[in-house]
Amino acid sequence: CGIFAYMNYRVPRTRKEIFETLIKGLQRLEYRGYDSAGVAIDGNNNEDKERHIKLVKKRGKVKALDEELYKQDGMDLKVEFETHFGIAHTRWATHGVPNAVNSHPQRSDKTNEFVVIHNGIITNYKDLRKFLETKGYEFESETDTETIAKLIKYVYDNRESEDIRFSTLVERVIQQLEGAFALVFKSIHYPGEAVTTRRGSPLLIGVRSKYKLSTEQIPILYRTCNIENVKNICKTRMKRLDSSTCLHAVGDKAVEFFFASDASAIIEHTNRVIFLEDDDIAAVADGKLSIHRVKRSASDDPSRAIQTLQ
Ligand code: GLU
Repeated sequence: CGIFAYMNYRVPRTRKEIFETLIKGLQRLEYRGYDSAGVAIDGNNNEDKERHIKLVKKRGKVKALDEELYKQDGMDLKVEFETHFGIAHTRWATHGVPNAVNSHPQRSDKTNEFVVIHNGIITNYKDLRKFLETKGYEFESETDTETIAKLIKYVYDNRESEDIRFSTLVERVIQQLEGAFALVFKSIHYPGEAVTTRRGSPLLIGVRSKYKLSTEQIPILYRTCNIENVKNICKTRMKRLDSSTCLHAVGDKAVEFFFASDASAIIEHTNRVIFLEDDDIAAVADGKLSIHRVKRSASDDPSRAIQTLQ
């Protein structure tokens, strides 16, 4: 029921600082209610060529997750990450009982190639799950969300070119989804990259950098506002983007990004926020944030959606 994710790009942070930021973010969202919590973080430090993603999930309080994090093997808290992307979630179960397996992040496979956190409900998950099972993907949870994790791997496994973008995978995934969602994806195939999207459920991005905005960023200001004035200014300043708009924000200098379902988790870090609208996909790669709107096509007709997948 709450999403919080944090990326430091060229801003060295110790593992301990990253844990603290993620846990504090979840605690700010606790009032929304939840039954379990979990995080996905990088398992190795910058020196390791092969990245791997570590999942820590726990039924119950954020406090219990916090304690569990520090008990993990190989967690040197002083290790410094120049760039790191961690995602965190509190779950209010809609499909599947509250337990560690059903908690988020949900994963694509046992090696955690793709992991995702989700707020909302996927109404056509049964059809998608059936389809994916016929293709040999094995499910471990009872959640609707796991379908999304498997679906992105399916799209990746069937990609037509090696250099397909992370955001393109997500775009194809959401064209198959019915229902409400705010999603944040992380993948070992795209280290240091983040992709997030929403439809129906809220999601906003906070940006913190001591560097000035570049001219490329000017359009994004229409959708940026100070949290103190959210109610008054936001409505008047926000401008609808059409589906072809692609915005670039923030230069390649040190920058931090915060993703949350609620401004209360971001306000202590920055007052520069961007509210995503339905079917926006926001991607961070090389410290640059770009946002574009996806055209809804296949998902207008769920029966066609499955066919498009094949
Ligand atoms: N429908 C998802 C689940 O039950 C997400 C629930 C939520 O928003 O926390 O796992």
